[in-house]
Amino acid sequence: MSETSDVEPGTLYVVATPIGHLGDFSPRAQRVLGQVSLIGAEDTRTSQTLLSAHGIRTPLQAVHEHNEAAQAERLLARLRSGESLALIADAGTPLISDPGFTVVRAARAAGVPVRTVPGPCAAIAALSIAGLPSDRFEFVGFLPAREAARRERLRELAGLTHTWIVYESSHRIEACLADLLAVLGPARRVCLARELTKQFEQSELAPLQELLPWLRADPHRQRGEFVLVVEGAAPVEADEALPAEAQRLLELLLTELPASRAARLAAAYTGLPRQRFYRQALGSAADGE
Ligand code: SAM
Repeated sequence: MSETSDVEPGTLYVVATPIGHLGDFSPRAQRVLGQVSLIGAEDTRTSQTLLSAHGIRTPLQAVHEHNEAAQAERLLARLRSGESLALIADAGTPLISDPGFTVVRAARAAGVPVRTVPGPCAAIAALSIAGLPSDRFEFVGFLPAREAARRERLRELAGLTHTWIVYESSHRIEACLADLLAVLGPARRVCLARELTKQFEQSELAPLQELLPWLRADPHRQRGEFVLVVEGAAPVEADEALPAEAQRLLELLLTELPASRAARLAAAYTGLPRQRFYRQALGSAADGE
């Protein structure tokens, strides 16, 4: 890199762009995008508007989910010949629920240096203001569009004890919150973050039984782009040990049955939650190994 240049030859730069507020377009991101010889962009028209507004005249090439594999080859050929290129998404960080993975993977496989120019990402922005534990979290991205598949996915996620993050669009936000309430129950807290960094930014942390009425109370609240930050399930406490009778029953059933059936029968007989028996049964199996 020369003193006047921010880019190295033959290098791929993965560059974040604003998710709303143009003030979040970092000076380094602008310089790198102005100095590379080509920018791969998800939607060239959207990106052209952003780049032109900042005086960046670098040519753009479309790299989206339908042409990414073919484009990866072309971009790679140019990188190998010593050109430096950049990858951007419509907004935020490429590869985060956006195209770019195929190109980055191909560059790495070919030994091409890949550098980051980090910046806005809606998931991280929402997590940083949600007020929910952030020491461990899971990025879920978009949930399935159809209700049955969405609920199924939510059932898979329901037991996670760490925070998880969902992207949602305006036309599904109400249905999505209704499904979250149905699957996770009324007390689970969710932070709904909408229009982050934009004029009508809002974020509301509340139990689902309050959040859904909050969303429905004002049609404006259903507009724009959304991130949902979901509180993890309460971990099972060690003092949740089964009563002695129930424990004996479970042990007896486990001599004849697999853990899931033993747990179901013990729960039906005692009226205690099946999950408690099931976890205990798995624990016993592990102890006995
Ligand atoms: N790559 C982007 C990133 O780094 O956040 C995400 C792209 S994904 C195709 C678009 C989704 O991100 C939107 O549907 C919404 O869920 C979320 N999103 C993007 N910008 C947002 C904003 N300003 N406020 C809230 N959510 C946003």
